[in-house]
Amino acid sequence: MRVLVIEDEKKIASFIQRGLKEEHYAVDVAYDGEQGLFLAETNPYNLIVLDIMLPGKDGIFICRELRKKSINTPILMLTARDAVEDKVSGLDSGADDYMTKPFAFEEFLARVRSLLRRGSEQKAGVLVCKDLELNQMTHKATRRGEDIMLSSKEYALLEFLLLHQDEVVTRTMLSEQVWNEAFDSFTNVIDVHIKHLRDKVDKPFDVPYIHTIRGSGYTLSGNQP
Ligand code: CA
Repeated sequence: MRVLVIEDEKKIASFIQRGLKEEHYAVDVAYDGEQGLFLAETNPYNLIVLDIMLPGKDGIFICRELRKKSINTPILMLTARDAVEDKVSGLDSGADDYMTKPFAFEEFLARVRSLLRRGSEQKAGVLVCKDLELNQMTHKATRRGEDIMLSSKEYALLEFLLLHQDEVVTRTMLSEQVWNEAFDSFTNVIDVHIKHLRDKVDKPFDVPYIHTIRGSGYTLSGNQP
């Protein structure tokens, strides 16, 4: 799950970022409206946390722009003011939910979860590669009907590979999309998790689906290369 936080108050932005990372979300932060709108238009996010008062373009404008362009990512709006007009114009512009700062992180997290659930109910399904199935709602994986127990990282990794089936997935893509970390120091961690995933998903069965592409990364495919 990848979340974009558009918030110019550095303290609040880093508070949100830290908290979401602890919950294993991948988080990008933009500190002004221009950058935020750019990121929201060019990357797939599962949720956008959007402050209303921003330098550059404000949150209401950004929200309208995104909806105009049919980018329907769930949006949680933030404002420092407890003004009814803000709430109304925020929701009018296409936001899904609304929070007034300051807020308790637990409540924020509950709203985030509920929005992500709503977002995934619209498009959640079962990702399939031959006899391997991954349910995005329950996070349950099975192969040939047998349950496979996955850690949350392994789930995220397998989900990403299945969403990009038959494509080459680079370690850079994995470090950014699944771990939200800079690539350099991270190769080993990715390889170790891939190994664990292979031990569960491929090893007990005769045909492997996760293939190493030398020098590039990995691909998940039901077709043998
Ligand atoms: Ca602000």
